[in-house]
Amino acid sequence: MRAADPVLDSLQGLALGDAFGDRWFSVPVDEAPSALAARLVRPAPWHWTDDTAMTLVLVRHLTARGEVHQDALAQEFAAEYAREYGRKYGPSMHRVLRGIGAGGDWRAITSGQFEGQGSYGNGAAMRVAPLGAWFANDLDEVARQAELQALTTHFHPEAVIGAVAVALAAALAVRSRGESAPGRAELLTEIAGRLPVSDVRSGLRIAARLPEHTSIRQAATVLGSGVLISAPDTVPFALWSAAGHLDSLPEALWHTLEGWGDKDTTCAIAAGVVAARTGLTEVPPAWLAAREELPDWAAGTAASAE
Ligand SMILES: [Mg+2]
Repeated sequence: MRAADPVLDSLQGLALGDAFGDRWFSVPVDEAPSALAARLVRPAPWHWTDDTAMTLVLVRHLTARGEVHQDALAQEFAAEYAREYGRKYGPSMHRVLRGIGAGGDWRAITSGQFEGQGSYGNGAAMRVAPLGAWFANDLDEVARQAELQALTTHFHPEAVIGAVAVALAAALAVRSRGESAPGRAELLTEIAGRLPVSDVRSGLRIAARLPEHTSIRQAATVLGSGVLISAPDTVPFALWSAAGHLDSLPEALWHTLEGWGDKDTTCAIAAGVVAARTGLTEVPPAWLAAREELPDWAAGTAASAE
Protein backbone atom coordinates (compact mmCIF):
# COMPACT_ATOMS: atom_id res chain seq x y z
CA MET A 1 0.00 0.00 0.00
CA ARG A 2 1.29 3.43 -0.93
CA ALA A 3 1.83 5.85 1.93
CA ALA A 4 0.76 3.12 4.28
CA ASP A 5 1.22 4.85 7.57
CA PRO A 6 -0.96 7.95 7.32
CA VAL A 7 -3.70 6.05 5.51
CA LEU A 8 -3.83 3.25 8.05
CA ASP A 9 -3.45 5.71 10.92
CA SER A 10 -6.44 7.61 9.63
CA LEU A 11 -8.44 4.43 9.09
CA GLN A 12 -7.65 3.10 12.54
CA GLY A 13 -8.43 6.44 14.14
CA LEU A 14 -11.70 6.64 12.27
CA ALA A 15 -12.72 3.16 13.41
CA LEU A 16 -11.82 4.04 16.99
CA GLY A 17 -13.85 7.24 16.83
CA ASP A 18 -16.82 5.45 15.31
CA ALA A 19 -16.82 2.77 18.02
CA PHE A 20 -16.04 5.24 20.82
CA GLY A 21 -18.91 7.50 19.82
CA ASP A 22 -21.41 4.76 19.08
CA ARG A 23 -20.88 3.19 22.50
CA TRP A 24 -22.38 6.32 24.10
CA PHE A 25 -25.71 5.85 22.36
CA SER A 26 -26.47 3.12 24.89
CA VAL A 27 -25.74 5.27 27.96
CA PRO A 28 -29.04 6.10 29.69
CA VAL A 29 -30.03 9.71 29.15
CA ASP A 30 -30.04 10.53 32.86
CA GLU A 31 -26.52 9.15 33.32
CA ALA A 32 -24.92 10.63 30.23
CA PRO A 33 -24.12 14.20 31.34
CA SER A 34 -22.32 13.19 34.52
CA ALA A 35 -20.57 10.24 32.84
CA LEU A 36 -19.38 12.53 30.08
CA ALA A 37 -18.27 15.25 32.48
CA ALA A 38 -16.27 12.66 34.43
CA ARG A 39 -14.95 11.11 31.22
CA LEU A 40 -16.00 7.66 32.33
CA VAL A 41 -14.66 5.30 29.71
CA ARG A 42 -17.42 2.95 28.59
CA PRO A 43 -17.03 -0.79 29.15
CA ALA A 44 -16.02 -3.00 26.23
CA PRO A 45 -16.99 -4.00 23.64
CA TRP A 46 -17.13 -0.96 21.40
CA HIS A 47 -18.55 -2.02 18.07
CA TRP A 48 -17.90 0.02 14.99
CA THR A 49 -20.70 0.85 12.56
CA ASP A 50 -21.38 1.76 8.92
CA ASP A 51 -18.79 4.54 9.08
CA THR A 52 -15.99 2.01 9.46
CA ALA A 53 -17.58 -0.65 7.25
CA MET A 54 -17.72 1.76 4.31
CA THR A 55 -14.25 3.14 5.03
CA LEU A 56 -12.80 -0.35 4.91
CA VAL A 57 -14.42 -0.81 1.50
CA LEU A 58 -13.02 2.49 0.26
CA VAL A 59 -9.45 1.88 1.45
CA ARG A 60 -9.51 -1.65 0.04
CA HIS A 61 -10.69 -0.16 -3.23
CA LEU A 62 -7.84 2.36 -3.32
CA THR A 63 -5.36 -0.37 -2.46
CA ALA A 64 -6.55 -2.47 -5.40
CA ARG A 65 -6.98 0.30 -7.95
CA GLY A 66 -5.01 3.35 -6.83
CA GLU A 67 -7.94 5.68 -7.46
CA VAL A 68 -11.73 5.72 -7.37
CA HIS A 69 -13.54 3.72 -10.07
CA GLN A 70 -17.14 4.60 -9.42
CA ASP A 71 -18.92 1.64 -10.98
CA ALA A 72 -16.79 -0.83 -9.05
CA LEU A 73 -16.92 1.14 -5.81
CA ALA A 74 -20.71 1.37 -5.87
CA GLN A 75 -20.85 -2.41 -6.27
CA GLU A 76 -18.37 -2.92 -3.46
CA PHE A 77 -20.37 -0.73 -1.06
CA ALA A 78 -23.50 -2.68 -1.97
CA ALA A 79 -21.75 -6.02 -1.51
CA GLU A 80 -20.50 -5.02 1.93
CA TYR A 81 -23.99 -3.87 2.88
CA ALA A 82 -25.45 -7.19 1.73
CA ARG A 83 -22.81 -9.07 3.72
CA GLU A 84 -23.52 -7.20 6.95
CA TYR A 85 -26.46 -4.84 6.78
CA GLY A 86 -26.79 -4.50 10.55
CA ARG A 87 -24.07 -1.86 10.88
CA LYS A 88 -26.60 0.95 11.52
CA TYR A 89 -26.71 2.38 8.02
CA GLY A 90 -28.88 5.47 7.58
CA PRO A 91 -32.42 4.98 6.25
CA SER A 92 -31.72 6.31 2.76
CA MET A 93 -28.58 4.20 2.42
CA HIS A 94 -30.62 1.03 2.95
CA ARG A 95 -32.61 1.95 -0.15
CA VAL A 96 -29.57 3.01 -2.17
CA LEU A 97 -27.39 0.02 -1.35
CA ARG A 98 -30.21 -2.50 -1.72
CA GLY A 99 -31.05 -1.03 -5.09
CA ILE A 100 -27.47 -1.17 -6.35
CA GLY A 101 -27.09 -4.68 -4.98
CA ALA A 102 -30.21 -5.71 -6.87
CA GLY A 103 -28.59 -4.64 -10.12
CA GLY A 104 -29.88 -1.09 -10.40
CA ASP A 105 -27.82 1.71 -11.94
CA TRP A 106 -26.15 3.65 -9.11
CA ARG A 107 -26.45 6.97 -10.91
CA ALA A 108 -30.20 6.57 -11.36
CA ILE A 109 -30.70 5.33 -7.81
CA THR A 110 -28.68 8.03 -6.05
CA SER A 111 -30.11 10.85 -8.15
CA GLY A 112 -33.63 9.57 -7.58
CA GLN A 113 -33.44 9.96 -3.81
CA PHE A 114 -35.45 12.70 -2.09
CA GLU A 115 -37.45 13.68 -5.17
CA GLY A 116 -34.41 14.07 -7.34
CA GLN A 117 -32.23 16.04 -4.93
CA GLY A 118 -30.24 13.07 -3.70
CA SER A 119 -29.16 12.43 -0.15
CA TYR A 120 -27.36 15.21 1.66
CA GLY A 121 -26.59 12.96 4.60
CA ASN A 122 -23.19 12.75 6.20
CA GLY A 123 -22.41 9.25 4.89
CA ALA A 124 -20.03 10.31 2.14
CA ALA A 125 -18.06 12.44 4.59
CA MET A 126 -17.88 9.89 7.38
CA ARG A 127 -15.80 7.41 5.36
CA VAL A 128 -13.43 9.65 3.46
CA ALA A 129 -10.61 10.77 5.76
CA PRO A 130 -8.17 7.99 4.76
CA LEU A 131 -8.69 8.93 1.11
CA GLY A 132 -7.47 12.41 1.99
CA ALA A 133 -4.40 10.84 3.54
CA TRP A 134 -3.89 8.67 0.47
CA PHE A 135 -3.76 11.60 -1.96
CA ALA A 136 -2.27 14.11 0.49
CA ASN A 137 0.48 15.14 -1.92
CA ASP A 138 -2.01 16.71 -4.30
CA LEU A 139 -4.94 18.65 -2.84
CA ASP A 140 -6.71 18.98 -6.18
CA GLU A 141 -6.64 15.22 -6.51
CA VAL A 142 -7.90 14.87 -2.93
CA ALA A 143 -10.94 16.94 -3.84
CA ARG A 144 -11.51 15.12 -7.12
CA GLN A 145 -11.29 11.64 -5.64
CA ALA A 146 -13.38 12.60 -2.61
CA GLU A 147 -16.10 13.82 -4.96
CA LEU A 148 -15.96 10.68 -7.10
CA GLN A 149 -16.39 8.39 -4.09
CA ALA A 150 -19.15 10.55 -2.61
CA LEU A 151 -21.27 10.43 -5.74
CA THR A 152 -21.53 6.65 -5.69
CA THR A 153 -24.04 6.96 -2.84
CA HIS A 154 -24.81 10.67 -2.35
CA PHE A 155 -26.02 12.82 -5.24
CA HIS A 156 -26.69 16.08 -3.34
CA PRO A 157 -23.91 18.69 -3.65
CA GLU A 158 -23.85 19.33 0.11
CA ALA A 159 -23.04 15.67 0.79
CA VAL A 160 -20.32 15.74 -1.84
CA ILE A 161 -18.81 19.02 -0.60
CA GLY A 162 -18.91 17.71 2.97
CA ALA A 163 -16.83 14.74 1.85
CA VAL A 164 -14.38 16.99 0.01
CA ALA A 165 -13.99 19.11 3.14
CA VAL A 166 -13.19 16.14 5.35
CA ALA A 167 -10.74 14.68 2.83
CA LEU A 168 -8.95 18.01 2.55
CA ALA A 169 -8.74 18.24 6.34
CA ALA A 170 -7.16 14.79 6.52
CA ALA A 171 -4.72 15.64 3.73
CA LEU A 172 -3.69 18.85 5.46
CA ALA A 173 -3.31 16.92 8.71
CA VAL A 174 -0.92 14.51 6.99
CA ARG A 175 1.01 17.40 5.47
CA SER A 176 1.44 18.95 8.93
CA ARG A 177 3.23 15.88 10.30
CA GLY A 178 6.55 16.77 11.86
CA GLU A 179 5.60 20.43 12.16
CA SER A 180 3.53 22.47 14.60
CA ALA A 181 -0.16 21.95 14.06
CA PRO A 182 -1.84 24.64 11.97
CA GLY A 183 -4.08 27.01 13.91
CA ARG A 184 -7.74 26.12 14.09
CA ALA A 185 -9.01 29.15 12.17
CA GLU A 186 -6.19 28.88 9.65
CA LEU A 187 -6.98 25.24 8.85
CA LEU A 188 -10.74 25.73 8.63
CA THR A 189 -10.28 28.80 6.43
CA GLU A 190 -7.93 26.96 4.10
CA ILE A 191 -10.42 24.11 3.68
CA ALA A 192 -13.33 26.50 3.12
CA GLY A 193 -11.31 28.37 0.51
CA ARG A 194 -11.14 25.24 -1.61
CA LEU A 195 -14.89 24.54 -1.56
CA PRO A 196 -17.68 25.79 -3.79
CA VAL A 197 -20.46 27.96 -2.38
CA SER A 198 -22.50 25.74 -0.06
CA ASP A 199 -23.89 25.41 3.44
CA VAL A 200 -20.87 23.27 4.32
CA ARG A 201 -18.55 26.08 3.28
CA SER A 202 -20.60 28.67 5.19
CA GLY A 203 -20.52 26.46 8.25
CA LEU A 204 -16.74 26.12 8.05
CA ARG A 205 -16.34 29.88 7.72
CA ILE A 206 -18.57 30.43 10.73
CA ALA A 207 -16.57 27.79 12.61
CA ALA A 208 -13.32 29.52 11.71
CA ARG A 209 -14.61 32.75 13.24
CA LEU A 210 -15.82 31.29 16.54
CA PRO A 211 -13.88 32.92 19.39
CA GLU A 212 -11.06 30.86 20.82
CA HIS A 213 -12.80 29.86 24.04
CA THR A 214 -16.19 29.05 22.55
CA SER A 215 -17.71 26.18 24.51
CA ILE A 216 -18.43 22.93 22.78
CA ARG A 217 -22.09 23.31 23.63
CA GLN A 218 -22.18 26.72 21.97
CA ALA A 219 -20.29 25.50 18.90
CA ALA A 220 -22.65 22.54 18.56
CA THR A 221 -25.63 24.88 18.85
CA VAL A 222 -24.31 27.24 16.19
CA LEU A 223 -22.87 24.66 13.78
CA GLY A 224 -25.04 21.62 14.52
CA SER A 225 -23.51 18.35 15.65
CA GLY A 226 -25.17 15.85 13.39
CA VAL A 227 -28.62 15.76 14.95
CA LEU A 228 -30.02 16.20 11.45
CA ILE A 229 -27.50 13.63 10.10
CA SER A 230 -26.88 15.96 7.17
CA ALA A 231 -23.46 16.96 5.87
CA PRO A 232 -23.88 20.68 6.66
CA ASP A 233 -25.09 19.81 10.17
CA THR A 234 -22.15 17.44 10.81
CA VAL A 235 -18.98 18.37 8.95
CA PRO A 236 -18.34 21.94 10.20
CA PHE A 237 -18.64 20.88 13.85
CA ALA A 238 -16.54 17.73 13.43
CA LEU A 239 -13.79 19.64 11.64
CA TRP A 240 -13.94 22.52 14.15
CA SER A 241 -13.42 19.96 16.88
CA ALA A 242 -10.62 18.16 15.04
CA ALA A 243 -8.86 21.41 14.13
CA GLY A 244 -8.78 22.40 17.80
CA HIS A 245 -7.12 19.15 18.92
CA LEU A 246 -4.73 18.16 16.19
CA ASP A 247 -2.09 16.97 18.62
CA SER A 248 -4.17 14.60 20.73
CA LEU A 249 -6.58 12.00 19.43
CA PRO A 250 -8.08 11.24 22.87
CA GLU A 251 -8.73 14.94 23.51
CA ALA A 252 -10.26 15.29 20.07
CA LEU A 253 -12.57 12.38 20.82
CA TRP A 254 -13.75 13.62 24.22
CA HIS A 255 -14.40 17.10 22.87
CA THR A 256 -16.20 15.85 19.79
CA LEU A 257 -18.34 13.51 21.88
CA GLU A 258 -19.37 16.42 24.06
CA GLY A 259 -21.14 17.94 21.06
CA TRP A 260 -23.48 14.94 21.31
CA GLY A 261 -25.59 14.65 18.13
CA ASP A 262 -24.53 11.97 15.63
CA LYS A 263 -21.77 10.75 17.94
CA ASP A 264 -20.35 7.83 15.98
CA THR A 265 -20.02 9.91 12.84
CA THR A 266 -18.75 13.17 14.35
CA CYS A 267 -16.16 11.16 16.29
CA ALA A 268 -15.26 9.09 13.20
CA ILE A 269 -14.70 12.23 11.13
CA ALA A 270 -12.69 14.07 13.77
CA ALA A 271 -10.61 11.01 14.62
CA GLY A 272 -9.93 10.15 10.99
CA VAL A 273 -8.50 13.64 10.53
CA VAL A 274 -6.49 13.89 13.74
CA ALA A 275 -5.08 10.36 13.48
CA ALA A 276 -3.81 11.20 10.00
CA ARG A 277 -1.41 13.52 11.81
CA THR A 278 -0.84 11.84 15.19
CA GLY A 279 -1.39 8.15 14.62
CA LEU A 280 -2.72 6.24 17.61
CA THR A 281 0.30 6.49 19.88
CA GLU A 282 -1.48 8.49 22.60
CA VAL A 283 -4.56 6.31 22.68
CA PRO A 284 -4.90 4.30 25.91
CA PRO A 285 -4.34 0.58 25.16
CA ALA A 286 -7.63 -0.20 26.92
CA TRP A 287 -9.50 1.82 24.29
CA LEU A 288 -7.94 -0.13 21.47
CA ALA A 289 -8.64 -3.38 23.28
CA ALA A 290 -12.29 -2.35 23.72
CA ARG A 291 -12.73 -1.49 20.06
CA GLU A 292 -13.96 -4.27 17.86
CA GLU A 293 -11.08 -5.64 15.83
CA LEU A 294 -10.37 -4.60 12.28
CA PRO A 295 -9.36 -7.00 9.53
CA ASP A 296 -5.65 -7.88 9.70
CA TRP A 297 -4.73 -5.72 6.71
CA ALA A 298 -6.38 -2.67 8.27
CA ALA A 299 -4.98 -3.30 11.71
CA GLY A 300 -1.52 -2.78 10.22
CA THR A 301 -0.39 -6.27 11.04
CA ALA A 302 0.01 -7.03 7.36
CA ALA A 303 2.05 -4.67 5.31
CA SER A 304 0.88 -6.70 2.60
CA ALA A 305 -1.62 -4.87 0.94
CA GLU A 306 1.06 -4.05 -1.66
MG1 LIG B 1 -22.50 4.93 11.99
